[in-house]
Amino acid sequence: MDKNAKPIVVIGAGLCGSLLAARLAKRGQKVLLFERRTDIRLTGEEGGRSINLALSIRGLNSLNLVGADQEALKMAIPMQARMIHFKDGSTRWSPYSGREGDYINSISRGGLNALLLDKAEQNKNLEIRFNTPCLSVDIEANTATFRDNRNGKTFVQEASVIIGTDGAGSAVRRSYLARSSSSLFNYSQHFLEHGYKELHIYPNDDGSHKIKKNCLHIWPRGNYMVIALPNLDGSFTVTCFFPYKGANGFEELTEPSQLFSFFKEEFPDAFQLMPNLISDFYNNPTGSLGTIKCYPWTTNGNSLLMGDAAHAIVPFYGQGMNCSFEDVLVFDQMIDEYGLDWATVFSAYQNERKKDTDAIADLAIDNFYEMRDHVANEHFIRKRNLEMKLEKQFDDYYSKYSLVTFRPDLSYHEAMVKGRAQDEYLMKICKQTKEIENIDLIELNRDIKQKIWR
Ligand SMILES: Cc1cc2nc3c(=O)[nH]c(=O)nc-3n(C[C@H](O)[C@H](O)[C@H](O)COP(=O)(O)OP(=O)(O)OC[C@H]3O[C@@H](n4cnc5c(N)ncnc54)[C@H](O)[C@@H]3O)c2cc1C
Repeated sequence: MDKNAKPIVVIGAGLCGSLLAARLAKRGQKVLLFERRTDIRLTGEEGGRSINLALSIRGLNSLNLVGADQEALKMAIPMQARMIHFKDGSTRWSPYSGREGDYINSISRGGLNALLLDKAEQNKNLEIRFNTPCLSVDIEANTATFRDNRNGKTFVQEASVIIGTDGAGSAVRRSYLARSSSSLFNYSQHFLEHGYKELHIYPNDDGSHKIKKNCLHIWPRGNYMVIALPNLDGSFTVTCFFPYKGANGFEELTEPSQLFSFFKEEFPDAFQLMPNLISDFYNNPTGSLGTIKCYPWTTNGNSLLMGDAAHAIVPFYGQGMNCSFEDVLVFDQMIDEYGLDWATVFSAYQNERKKDTDAIADLAIDNFYEMRDHVANEHFIRKRNLEMKLEKQFDDYYSKYSLVTFRPDLSYHEAMVKGRAQDEYLMKICKQTKEIENIDLIELNRDIKQKIWR
């Protein structure tokens, strides 16, 4: 490797950036990875609390690019089902799939990020600079300006190419936007009227989980939803998705007594598990939930946007990170196909990937309504039971959720198109009949194959 060669500059050492940098370095490229924050391996997660994510097969396949998939699984808790909690305290176990081997994994965001930083640093041709936020990118000159937070000095870094993996608030994307209108950069940002806040269920004194461990707990209440994912230390990270405005919205729940009675009334079993509710609720920030779409991700072949910087989505399919990891896999396949001709690779990558990131963005919005309202709806429950029966009986039947989550051989776009068509077909049947036991499953599966998959 030419020591004087300009490095590939990757901006943002989060989940996508650290995987991408590790992979490019493993391929022999000289990589400089910049990160705004302090090294998470030294500081731990913000506030000392675990924040977790659902990792599934698309993400795992991509982690395999740097040999991190099995190590990630060792840090994760398998979740086979949603456990739905009703207002009267009763619960319903709702498996993600009729196949036993299909499950998702709850994993610590910080732990996974640390693992990928370790993988990246194993390469001598890669250097990570923490505490160094990118301020802007000069796309024409192919340089990026950074501030070294340790001494406050700004400096300009030259690059062979620049890849922005700096998340939903991307500084690299801002530089795309700041260019003249002749660059034809399209950008849209759509916020939900709901925000989110993280709470915590702490472990029992012996370190065990207070509620069932191997599932994603969900308290769907129409306009309000609470979920909880297990952590290895026996705790759960709880996330409330509430509207900002209106009765019991984030902006209205200003009085602890009001918060108390709202939780006691709507989420009685969760309320009992969170003696720390008030401090968590009032100390933790409220995050916004939005979809960001933009295009093109490369403008002149010098730079590229990837991960949330290119396509931030709402978290309701548990696919944002998986999709960002899969970006790296698809990008890597483009390098296999086109070599190191970056302009060609960038352009082929965005042509291939855009429809899929749009698809998962739209599916994630659909799932917001499904999780919030439908999981407790009679027709939906019947449809879900029918899908389970089909999945148990036929190797070739996959529900929409399974197509998206457990079939990495299908693109998100294909999973969306086929999955939506199947949903529509089954919903029609479930609205017409209550007796799903009497349905001829062989005939139904054959019809679905002929009408939707032919
Ligand atoms: C509440 C919630 C729950 C979620 N749950 C799931 C889930 O269950 N499953 C799932 O797959 N996805 C989930 N996601 C989505 C997932 O978090 C994101 O899709 C994923 O983190 C994207 O990775 P990224 O590397 O592109 O961005 P990020 O993880 O945001 O990383 C960006 C990195 O860039 C750094 N950075 C930012 N600006 C600069 C700058 N100017 N200069 C240098 N560095 C910078 C940041 O510090 C950060 O390290 C969830 C998201 C939310 C909000």
